[in-house]
Amino acid sequence: MSATLIDGRKIADEIKAEVRESAERFRAVRGMVPGLAFVLVGTDPASQSYVRMKGQACEEMGFHSVTERLPAESPESAVLDLVNRFNRDTRIHGILVQLPLPKHISEERIITSIDYRKDVDGFHPLNVGRLVIGQKCLRPCTPAGIQELLLRSGHDPSGKHVVIVGRSNIVGKPVMNILLQKQQGANAVVTIAHTGAGDLSRYTRQADILIVAMGKPECIKGSMIKPGAVVIDVGSNRIPDPASKSGYRFTGDVEFSSAVEVAGAISPVPGGVGPMTIAMLMKNTLEAATTLFR
Ligand code: NAP
Repeated sequence: MSATLIDGRKIADEIKAEVRESAERFRAVRGMVPGLAFVLVGTDPASQSYVRMKGQACEEMGFHSVTERLPAESPESAVLDLVNRFNRDTRIHGILVQLPLPKHISEERIITSIDYRKDVDGFHPLNVGRLVIGQKCLRPCTPAGIQELLLRSGHDPSGKHVVIVGRSNIVGKPVMNILLQKQQGANAVVTIAHTGAGDLSRYTRQADILIVAMGKPECIKGSMIKPGAVVIDVGSNRIPDPASKSGYRFTGDVEFSSAVEVAGAISPVPGGVGPMTIAMLMKNTLEAATTLFR
């Protein structure tokens, strides 16, 4: 058996085309464009590259975007001042503080200082709480992207047993809260496994839909997957690869070569969940803009 590939790039492009069209209508009706502000503290190369890619996506969407860079040694108050400035700025509808922040700055205090209506990362406690109780909110981009990936590839989670490996606040828990809701496009029976699970395959083999967010390269083997299951690999791990020009490559948390022989459908790494995150950030920014000005 060879699994069908779930093409995240194609689905992300579909979403971005829809967002671009809606943003154009928003501009025609409101005379303004959605605006996204990035706050980047320090010079971490991965963070710089993420912010650059997100800024490029804003350009593609016709959004207004601004990036404020602060030195790594900036005090927490400088970041809070910036966030407050963007909270008040009527041209800005979404604020993204790129994580991780330097150790001396409290991520919790910074995230809580963002106006929850501009919290396009969906990490503010108000948005987290609203997600849990099934109220309308801004949802975290990667988890919301996973739901879109499932729905648009024809794998509605309703009534399915979804097993998630990983319980982080940015992936595992919000995916659970999204797919658990008694709502269209969700309504799944959800199990979460983590390091306390013992024999992981006891859980993963029961999954109709297996979502893996562990940060452990190629940890889930084909033998741990139920034949025909849908596998969403969230992992994005940089591993050494002497055969590649850069000396490294990216791989998922699922061993693709064995999983593809067992699964019914699988999202690859790269080209699966990754592109969805930026597409959903664009969607959230548009949603924040239209909601703020409703
Ligand atoms: P994280 O905060 O490190 O959480 C990892 C989770 O996996 C934890 O809950 C941990 O359990 C669990 N885990 C780790 N090893 C395990 C094992 N051997 N058995 C069972 N459970 C295990 O990671 P994250 O931030 O959720 O990210 C997960 C992966 O997704 C990473 O590779 C990350 O780069 C990737 N990611 C990709 C995107 C994207 O846009 N494509 C976005 C976000 C994250 P405990 O809680 O018990 O420690």
